[in-house]
Amino acid sequence: MAATTEVCIKCKRLFNYAGFGAKYCPDCRAVDEENRKRVKDFLDEHGAANMYEICEATGVKEAVIKQYLRDGMLEIPEGSPVFIKCERCGCDIRSGRWCPECAAKMTADLKGCYVGVGDKPKKDTAGKMRFMGRNRK
Ligand SMILES: [Zn+2]
Ligand SMILES: [Zn+2]
Repeated sequence: MAATTEVCIKCKRLFNYAGFGAKYCPDCRAVDEENRKRVKDFLDEHGAANMYEICEATGVKEAVIKQYLRDGMLEIPEGSPVFIKCERCGCDIRSGRWCPECAAKMTADLKGCYVGVGDKPKKDTAGKMRFMGRNRK
């Protein structure tokens, strides 16, 4: 895809847009990536946390974090007290916009044109070893 001139959605400056991803200029994109990395590192290190804790610890705004989740760039860890909601039925999902059930229904409706499906949190895995029997060699 050819690069086009676009207005940065954050600082409103014109920049050369490469044709994919959020419309951030290089400066804002660097900040965005730094923020995302901070949230991801926090989740990797601390596991499940509520939104308030994440915002406090990382200094990243809740709306920004939710956008990462919607975009599938972040996933909420298993066992977290907060999840984002499926936009169709309102059930809990860990990333994306729709739960697998709704996505399946919509796939039938839209003939396969969908993006942004997130896993539902598993409710019965507490205390079990999640990766047991899944050796990736
Ligand atoms: Zn910018
Ligand atoms: Zn749903």
